[in-house]
Amino acid sequence: MIILIIDEVQTGMGRTGSLFAFEHYGIEPDIITLAKGLASGFPISAMMGKKELREAFSSGSHGSTFGVGPLAVTAGLATLETLLEGCLMEHVTKLGVYALQRLTDQLQHYPSVQNIRGLGLLIGIECREPIAPIIQELLQQGLLVLTAGTHVIRLAPSLLITKEEIDQAVDLIEVVLKKY
Ligand SMILES: *Cc1c(COP(=O)(O)O)cnc(C)c1O
Repeated sequence: MIILIIDEVQTGMGRTGSLFAFEHYGIEPDIITLAKGLASGFPISAMMGKKELREAFSSGSHGSTFGVGPLAVTAGLATLETLLEGCLMEHVTKLGVYALQRLTDQLQHYPSVQNIRGLGLLIGIECREPIAPIIQELLQQGLLVLTAGTHVIRLAPSLLITKEEIDQAVDLIEVVLKKY
């Protein structure tokens, strides 16, 4: 038997417009890992697996510093309820499409930009040169962005982001990118 484990720590909890990213690809993992957005940033982590794998772990056989705790679990439940009962994931899908379109329209013609891709509100701007100086300059301008490797600017904004905030961010990125 081969067990498929998918790390959904970053891609899970609505980030890509579905509860878990694997749902986009017609695959069925045996185990997924969750953390970060699971309790909206409150420290928590979880490993979820199919029932038939349960025997592999007996109670207490696998420790975790931030695994559980009443406060963390309450924050996790509130997060899940918000995601499943509201229309937050539709918002993520809609705003993700909007952001990708805006970024593509506004940035793809710059010579420093190689490719722009994303799913939901997880977006990568692949550049032709290492992006460390670009990241630094964006930070100075007040835009917090991450890297994904040496050449990709990673955007993973709040799932509650608005169109106006996306416009602002794209304008800032353009100001910085066009200098490179
Ligand atoms: C942050 C992160 C982790 C690590 O999660 P911890 O709860 O800090 O162990 C694992 N995978 C991905 C994709 C992450 O972004």
